[in-house]
Amino acid sequence: VKGLTKTRNNILGSVDQVLNSFTKIDEDFYEELEEALIIADLGVNTAIKIMEDLKSKVKEQKIKDTAQVRELLMEELKQLMKNDGDIYDFTEKKSVVLVIGVNGVGKTTTIGKLAHQYKDNGKKVILAAADTFRAAAIDQLAEWSNRAGVELISQQENSDPGAVVFDAVQAAKARNSDILICDTAGRLHNKKNLMEELRKIFKIINREYSEAHKEVLLVLDSTTGQNALQQAKQFKDIADITGIVLTKLDGTAKGGIAIAIQTELNIPVKYIGVGEGIDDLQKFDSDDFVNALFD
Ligand code: GDP
Repeated sequence: VKGLTKTRNNILGSVDQVLNSFTKIDEDFYEELEEALIIADLGVNTAIKIMEDLKSKVKEQKIKDTAQVRELLMEELKQLMKNDGDIYDFTEKKSVVLVIGVNGVGKTTTIGKLAHQYKDNGKKVILAAADTFRAAAIDQLAEWSNRAGVELISQQENSDPGAVVFDAVQAAKARNSDILICDTAGRLHNKKNLMEELRKIFKIINREYSEAHKEVLLVLDSTTGQNALQQAKQFKDIADITGIVLTKLDGTAKGGIAIAIQTELNIPVKYIGVGEGIDDLQKFDSDDFVNALFD
């Protein structure tokens, strides 16, 4: 996995240090390893679960060597990250991708990258600027639509997001577009309003575009660690999320957050962002991800 170098160092910095500084497997070793996992952003619950599984495997397999624990740990993480979250390949049906998440996590950038990727795969893409709360959000999305070379449906600042989505669905149908990607407002601090807004958008899509396949992608900033997990929990209450996009894994993120999200929320990570450029979005592959972390 390209671009994960720093993240890899951040996870393994702490975990490898423990693995290298202990030869004997004892309570101290286990305690330090658990601590290292927590520091790597896996969170307390997930770290405890992993340690329990590890301990029973060590016993079962009569393992004496900390180097072998590394192998077990990798296996365990791969197992935890396995999901049936295979990315819908957008071949069967017309599709709508609703992108949600708080401001600043990389939502607009992700939409631009997705548009570019889908277009590269021969799809006709339309973007909808349904975050009408900030003029800057509309401008930024316009920039990304230019960069990706796809059409944007937008209205003025403070217009009704539902009306933008309605227009966009009509445009998607009229132009026979394959994938409609909708930006949405990220005002999680105003949860009731956001919920109402998303509910209206869902209703319009379901009524006007019932034949379309629907995806709801939640974008999370991996550098915010456990905050990202908290955001995911809150968004899970207000929307049926079909997948997570974890951004900024090229930075100082500790990567363990991907494991925490999947273990605690059971929502598949579908894409990872590894840079600011239009090509810096990758489909998430759990085996590749864990291998990259432990390379
Ligand atoms: P939004 O407010 O959620 O729409 O966030 P933006 O898309 O405007 O992104 C916020 C900042 O994060 C911008 O400076 C982006 O270039 C940056 N960004 C987004 N995704 C990534 C990523 O995967 N890696 C890095 N390093 N930066 C990213």
